[in-house]
Amino acid sequence: MTDVQLKQEEIVRLAERSGSIDKPCACATRTIPGWESVPITFPEELLDCLGRVSPPSEELTVKEYHPRGTNYWSSDAPIALNYFPANHSEIWQCRVCARCFLRYTEFGGYYVDKRIRSLRPEMLTLAELSE
Ligand SMILES: [Zn+2]
Repeated sequence: MTDVQLKQEEIVRLAERSGSIDKPCACATRTIPGWESVPITFPEELLDCLGRVSPPSEELTVKEYHPRGTNYWSSDAPIALNYFPANHSEIWQCRVCARCFLRYTEFGGYYVDKRIRSLRPEMLTLAELSE
């Protein structure tokens, strides 16, 4: 875990840059449009952690944001930085091509699962948390 917290504007910038990269890279042999377990073939060693989305806190919500009927696993689910799971994530960047990814670890009752999703600018939203 890193202590660096990225500003939301920085994350937007990173996402826009990442979305404009089209050169082939080992990190992009297969796209990861929605959340999934880190594929065995994914070159994790190429990624550097840039920082976390939220400040360290006990109080990060586990509410999700799905105004258009998507669910956690949907490839077109919003990446809502103020909601779960983006709020629990860190931003990681490929040091070869500069593509960016969200990553966090899901702790289930009987498992620990490392999850990853491409930081796609068209999915990003800064919608505020509502009750
Ligand atoms: Zn790459």
